Amino acid sequence: MVKFVEIEAKSMLTKHRFRDNWFWNRYSINPYRGCQFACNYCDAITERYLVHEDYRDFSRVIYVKKDAPGVLERELKKAIPDVVAMSGVTDPYQPAEKRYEVTRGVLEILARHRFPVHIITKSDLVLRDIDLLGEIAKQAWCTVSMTIVTFSRRLLSLLEPFAPSPEKRLDAVRILNEEGIQAGVDFTPIVPYLLDSEENMEEVIKRASECARYVLIGGAMTLRSNQRLRFMELLERNLPGLVEKYEKLYGKQESPSQDYVVKVNKKAFQFCRGYGIENYIPPPSFERALSQKTLTPKEGFDKENFEVASHLLLMAFFKEFKSGDPYSAWAYHRASQSIENLNESIKEIYKRGELRKIPGVGESISREIEEFLAKGRSERLEKEMSTW
Ligand code: SF4
Repeated sequence: MVKFVEIEAKSMLTKHRFRDNWFWNRYSINPYRGCQFACNYCDAITERYLVHEDYRDFSRVIYVKKDAPGVLERELKKAIPDVVAMSGVTDPYQPAEKRYEVTRGVLEILARHRFPVHIITKSDLVLRDIDLLGEIAKQAWCTVSMTIVTFSRRLLSLLEPFAPSPEKRLDAVRILNEEGIQAGVDFTPIVPYLLDSEENMEEVIKRASECARYVLIGGAMTLRSNQRLRFMELLERNLPGLVEKYEKLYGKQESPSQDYVVKVNKKAFQFCRGYGIENYIPPPSFERALSQKTLTPKEGFDKENFEVASHLLLMAFFKEFKSGDPYSAWAYHRASQSIENLNESIKEIYKRGELRKIPGVGESISREIEEFLAKGRSERLEKEMSTW
């Protein structure tokens, strides 16, 4: 029996220091605390995110931020429009949303303020809000990432016992794309020994390629604190033969070995190329009109600067994806951030031959930018995207 507790939100909009190069968001919003889908691999029950005293309450006690739209409305008056991810650590379309419609209320406010949005969910309930998502897609940018990790009934009952069926989710992806709202499949996390078989990976990617715009892949399941506790208990009860294999693969670490991650990513990359679907979310494209807000020059928005910054983040994405090391492309993140913060056009800086004066832009990254500015494309990135 799930208990719902209505709470007052102190704030709704969390601003991140760096733009995320997987989900492209700068902000995140969580309309709920706790999640009824109760996936057994969920990392939101680790202490770093958890607000419940007992992690087992994460899916039994759902806190509903009923006043979220009003709180957000006040916050947005002072915020610079940028991509908002919904949600960070809960599903915005869990069953509670049918009754409370907090996510819908939040989307109405985001649409009114012309903020671009990235929805991450496991529920076809997202289709209820197709009108708002369409409006956001037209005036800013919108993408919906539907998490699908398997079609196997046996694995679903073990890993995601309360989420809508993957067929319903895939159908939602198809409908969203048909309605002009970009939608793809989020194939994360990869749960070792359960979801990483060639058969499973190929099936998810193949079926996604028939209607999705992308398959985001590359996140092997973490095992942290409560998450580890719960997952290992699950294995002991249902698949005791895997316990030792997990202990070997993770040891005391929170993630599986880099070798393992690279092997899985490579397999996924090859399936994606084989079925002709991207393995990343295309960078957002949105106008942030100066008239929309009173912006200082530093907060101003130069579309070309944003494209160069996104280009560098995509390079970083592929470097991280192929190395299995999330910190392998830190220089790209730093340079990208500096370029987004410029208060003049990067083209002017390029013409003066001063790219290297931008904080974080070294020789190799400046060559990368030069090529992108001169040709509007980058052979290096194209190579990263097409070959392993
Ligand atoms: S839907 Fe997401 S947030 Fe909810 S339990 Fe599953 S993994 Fe966690």
